[in-house]
Amino acid sequence: MQAAAAVPQRRSIPRGQLLINGRWCDASSGETMPTFDPTTEEKIAEVAKGSAADVDQAVAAASRAFEEGPWGRMHLEARAKLLFKIADLLDERADDFAIREAMDMGMPYRDFRDTIMPHCSGLFRFFSGLAMQISGGYRQSYEPEIRIFTRREPLGVVAAITPFNFPLALTCSKVAPALAAGNTVVHKPASDTPLTALALAQVMLDAGVPEGVYNLVTGPGSTLGDALVKHPLVDKVAFTGSTAVGQNIIRNGADTLKHTTMELGGKSPNIVFADANIEAAVQTAFWAIFWNKGEVCVAGSRLIVERPIYDEVVDRLAKMAENAILGDPLLPETQVGPIASKAEYDKVLRYVEAGKESKARLVAGGNTRRVNGKGLFIEPTVFGGATNDIKISREEIFGPVLPVIPFETEEEAIRIANDTPYGLASGIQTGSMARALRIADKIKAGTVWLNMWHKYHPSAPFGGYKMSGYGREQGPEALESYTQYKTVWANLA
Ligand code: NAD
Repeated sequence: MQAAAAVPQRRSIPRGQLLINGRWCDASSGETMPTFDPTTEEKIAEVAKGSAADVDQAVAAASRAFEEGPWGRMHLEARAKLLFKIADLLDERADDFAIREAMDMGMPYRDFRDTIMPHCSGLFRFFSGLAMQISGGYRQSYEPEIRIFTRREPLGVVAAITPFNFPLALTCSKVAPALAAGNTVVHKPASDTPLTALALAQVMLDAGVPEGVYNLVTGPGSTLGDALVKHPLVDKVAFTGSTAVGQNIIRNGADTLKHTTMELGGKSPNIVFADANIEAAVQTAFWAIFWNKGEVCVAGSRLIVERPIYDEVVDRLAKMAENAILGDPLLPETQVGPIASKAEYDKVLRYVEAGKESKARLVAGGNTRRVNGKGLFIEPTVFGGATNDIKISREEIFGPVLPVIPFETEEEAIRIANDTPYGLASGIQTGSMARALRIADKIKAGTVWLNMWHKYHPSAPFGGYKMSGYGREQGPEALESYTQYKTVWANLA
């Protein structure tokens, strides 16, 4: 008989420091801030609370490493070897990363190990391979004795600013192409979930990334993040987070004309037609919203269902919601973990109340739960009889709350799907691939999943339309956005 795999255990995490110029150090003020485990509601560790002075040090180190260090001039193959080493170390330390993410963000350990971790190491392999193909061009001029050469060069110092959800994946999706293209990096993670950022910075050191090429600063967005965005030596801000903060960053970066990529919020529509395989469509719809307890930018947070199957879909979703296993994210049977922080928990509960006060009907969930008397758990919550104009259908909730909206015709489904300021992701569940492709053309969103949801690959561009942002992560398009073109004119006469 095969022995059951040991359940991963919480571990003590040492005090988190800043990584500046290849050395760990405390914040210059000596201040720290706590990070909490949403399952136990206990403090995990103290982490350095950096300030503008620390940002200045980190950016100066990154700028020096870019201007004077070997990184940008390194042979592409040598740099690729280093990035492959980073990928290997990520895989070797997958357990540690998964435990940290479960403790910090409440993501089920198993989901992280099976899906997120391979994606993170895959990003480094993909971009290091791709960067080896970075090449220039040769163009004709009017005059025969004049030659025009083009080449792509790195931008300089990249500030990677990341949100509290999927902290590791959304850091790797910026850092891998930024480093592969020859830039240097200062990473600023969200204050609520800094634990994997600390472990990633250690990976950079252990892989042998030259000093100053990779720096980590932890601290509040409003002070430390703000200083990073305004710093004159930062060339690009690669941001993932809320639309409001993204708008702020664009404004604050305007004086120094920052390059920016903006991965922002969403309210993604999932359309289910009556000809879909209902069992598969309901499974897809359920995990589209409730994976990582709805704390997912691309969550399928508006379910739009064709009238003939509407009641059946709502009933099935309600049953799945009632049977979902909430619990400690480290346990293998857990499907839904706790909400990442108390502030987010309170915000989601306010939306649950707004749903109850609307014309929609609560058909499942709507309550908080405790596990062993603790934890920021919210039940998967489904509202039937919803329309697209109520608060819970219009605003990004970023939690396990799903309004289900009926429709009569294909045109109406498309109209409802596009009736949102956002445009991050979308999905169509149908037995007709012809219809799916026809509608995919008309949906205003950066990703359209046909008969599936939550599929990602390092080669597949990812990003938003409308208020969900601009620029793309992943794919050759992302690498391009960490480079700029130089045109060299040569007079042979
Ligand atoms: P947030 O916007 O509150 O914070 C994101 C990051 O910005 C954090 O590191 C924060 O400290 C920092 N920040 C805050 N104010 C700043 C300022 N003035 N200057 C510089 N940095 C500042 O977002 P959040 O609550 O951490 O994450 C949830 C949001 O992120 C949701 O809206 C979600 O949709 C979005 N998100 C988008 C994607 C995507 O790929 N499009 C992916 C994940 C999350």
